[in-house]
Amino acid sequence: MLTDRTVPFFSGAVSLHRDRDILASLVRDIATSGRFVNAATVAELEQAVMAYTGARHAVACNSASDALILMLTAAGIGPGDEVIVPAYTFFATASSVVHAGAEPVFADVLPDSYALDPESVRNAIGPRTKAIVAVHLFHQTADLHALRTLADEHGLDFFEDSAEAIGMRAGGRHAGLWGRAGVLSFFPTKTLGALGDGGMLITDDEQLARQALRLRQDVPLDAAEPSAVACLDSGCDELQAAVLLTRLRTLDTDIARRAELAERYTARLAPLAPLVTTPVRAHAHEPSNLVWYVYLIETERRDELARFLADNGVGTEIYYPRTLAEQPCFRSLPGARLPVPVADAAARRAIALPLYPDLTEAQVDRVCDLLHEFHGEAR
Ligand SMILES: *Cc1c(COP(=O)(O)O)cnc(C)c1O
Repeated sequence: MLTDRTVPFFSGAVSLHRDRDILASLVRDIATSGRFVNAATVAELEQAVMAYTGARHAVACNSASDALILMLTAAGIGPGDEVIVPAYTFFATASSVVHAGAEPVFADVLPDSYALDPESVRNAIGPRTKAIVAVHLFHQTADLHALRTLADEHGLDFFEDSAEAIGMRAGGRHAGLWGRAGVLSFFPTKTLGALGDGGMLITDDEQLARQALRLRQDVPLDAAEPSAVACLDSGCDELQAAVLLTRLRTLDTDIARRAELAERYTARLAPLAPLVTTPVRAHAHEPSNLVWYVYLIETERRDELARFLADNGVGTEIYYPRTLAEQPCFRSLPGARLPVPVADAAARRAIALPLYPDLTEAQVDRVCDLLHEFHGEAR
């Protein structure tokens, strides 16, 4: 029995219960339609996401991880090329570069956003650099102006791993559309989550979108025509697309609910500064647009805190326990040699607290009470 004293890191149980009739009818419709992957519902989802984000083109696929591979490969990134990515991000930002046949180069991040530090990127640019991939982590965009300007100055492609960034806009433009292309993740815990995997490439670049579509799925396997490209065959399920279409309708309400809960965390945790802090960038030249994916905090006693919260029934996640430059599969690359002190500190200090629309105020209070107790402070 769940009570307000138990706080799972993620739960969609309340929403699932609320939407059970709609979801049951979607399953029935798709099951009887005989079309299960990349058909009419997926096309409808692509149109709906284009309308929501303002993108001219969208290519749905199996995950944001696949969308990153499609994006880089469709843009012609491949063997011999280097791609600059943050040292502190989800694994797929860098593994997609490897799957495209290129090499990741890890640059440091800024302490107030965990997004690429333009100065560190500048130091990472070399003769083989082809592109920069900015990542928008947790609740805010990277410094898009500075990073895109830097890419333009050096004649590099600019991409965004906007997997966590649906709903985020900077300067009136949706995340993912500041450079050649971006990606969205519909992993169940993400701001717009499916009931399984799903992802999408978004872009205003028609050529890139066409090539990504060919790479996603060229001619069907049983077709007589030979295939021109070694495609990924990354399908988006009709069922997931139907779930996402339903959830897209309440996305802005869900984002507002996330903001309400985040503000509650911020107010309740403010007295714990500087022991507990949340990185938030002063959005100097952009209207602030925070979209809260998780509630991230930094604290020196991170691992001890994670155990204490777990012992008290509160789920947390360590995003991310080590920098990508330290991952065994990347650390021997020449691109893993730059100093990344801010990423190192984040990997030691950052921990994500539960934040999702189904969370209650009482649950947020419970987490905050425990944080106060842990840090031995009077409330
Ligand atoms: C979740 C995430 C991904 C991968 O998304 P999937 O859809 O699970 O493949 C990539 N990059 C970042 C920054 C993410 O948070």
